[in-house]
Amino acid sequence: MKFEPVIGLEVHAQLKTKTKIFCSCSTAFGAAPNTHTCPVCLGMPGVLPVLNKKVVEYTMRMAIATHCTLARESRFARKNYFYPDLPKGYQISQYELPIAQHGHIDIEINGSPQRIGITRIHMEEDAGKLGHDPDRPISMVDFNRTGVPLIEIVSDPDIRSPEAAGAYLRQLRSIVRYLGICDGNLEEGSFRCDANVSIRPKESETFGTRTELKNLNSFKHVEKALQYEINRQKETLMDGGRVVQETRLWDPNKNKTTSMRGKEEAHDYRYFPDPDLLPLVIDEQWIEVVKSSLPELPDQKKRRFIAQYGLPSYDAQLLTSDRELADYFEDCVLSFANPKQISNWIMGPLLGLLNAQGKTIDVSPISTHDLARLLELIEKGTISGKIAKSVFDEMAQTGKPPQKIVEEKGLVQITDSGAIDEIVSKVISNCPKEVAAYKNGKSKLLGFFVGQVMKATRGKANPKLVNEILKKKLNK
Ligand SMILES: [Zn+2]
Repeated sequence: MKFEPVIGLEVHAQLKTKTKIFCSCSTAFGAAPNTHTCPVCLGMPGVLPVLNKKVVEYTMRMAIATHCTLARESRFARKNYFYPDLPKGYQISQYELPIAQHGHIDIEINGSPQRIGITRIHMEEDAGKLGHDPDRPISMVDFNRTGVPLIEIVSDPDIRSPEAAGAYLRQLRSIVRYLGICDGNLEEGSFRCDANVSIRPKESETFGTRTELKNLNSFKHVEKALQYEINRQKETLMDGGRVVQETRLWDPNKNKTTSMRGKEEAHDYRYFPDPDLLPLVIDEQWIEVVKSSLPELPDQKKRRFIAQYGLPSYDAQLLTSDRELADYFEDCVLSFANPKQISNWIMGPLLGLLNAQGKTIDVSPISTHDLARLLELIEKGTISGKIAKSVFDEMAQTGKPPQKIVEEKGLVQITDSGAIDEIVSKVISNCPKEVAAYKNGKSKLLGFFVGQVMKATRGKANPKLVNEILKKKLNK
């Protein structure tokens, strides 16, 4: 029997506001435990929450960017459960009337476009953090994170493969970063994902029993955990067993999921409207103001890069995946008008260098100006592409401009045909055996001769001229 996976993702994105969602405590990451707290976020009796307007505005940005319908009136609800990191015994979230619903984003899988629906986006407060002492049988709690604003973005169960799940998450992360509402940092937990997955016979319309996967803190883990879980469910069904609805934890060291607890149903949380908060009303005018403040989004930018710069879709996708990277590219194009050449050098040597150093483009050791100058040197024929790569490495190490490195090291390309002619003659008279073989039809040896000339000139001879002169002399 052929099975098809059905995947839905729930993403929690931490909003980059200065203060928490219902009080004025700081949201800064990394402070000493329990220093960013007050009676409101500690859940003291008698205090009242006051909604942070910036949280609503940021959520509206995301809703508009993902083509959602914004509710003119939405409501906060209490989600009740007991856990030591939740001082009030309930979390303020949205339930029946979320702020946004029915949106979508577009992704690309192996070159073909796919639309993934967004069920809803709602606002909520984060819980605190438990720390477990490995040496003593105690746990400690840090309430700095309670009340930090989150949006939860729930996808429709439209995703059909682990790769599509990865593409959806990358696109979503790219959007929140473009919008400037979340830093998208998976390691620090400001962008978190839970996955719901079930399988069903290929032509079936009904859903199978799903499991929820947690502890997925990198895109790679999401894809691996989903693949593992799909296989596990398949094997269970093939063996005549049945899938149990539960929450499972991904163990990245063992590359497997293990059962954590039975999955709660919504009624377990006894949701009810929060009596301390008024319904949230958003008017047309506010929506228009937010709409007009949105930047160009990754999708639009990608289409523009293809149209304006003639880039292949692959290049445009990669360059626009990050706003700073796209800006870097466009900055280069301003001073060197060969977009594809720039794209090649960014995607190849530059991203390679940044990855190796664990850096991002905004702290690139090579400025857009210097990269453009380097490409200019190649175009003018001052240096060869091969030499350019070694100049690039030197630029990264020393921060010197390319012209200076080329001058200091005497790397200027030899384009004087008389000088090359002389070296070619020497190479030919030094290799009589190879010359004879070449003349007997072993034309592949041309590469050998080119190599000898390059060796003699330490890579500085203009390759085109070397080829021309060699052929002329050898075919005499
Ligand atoms: Zn507070």
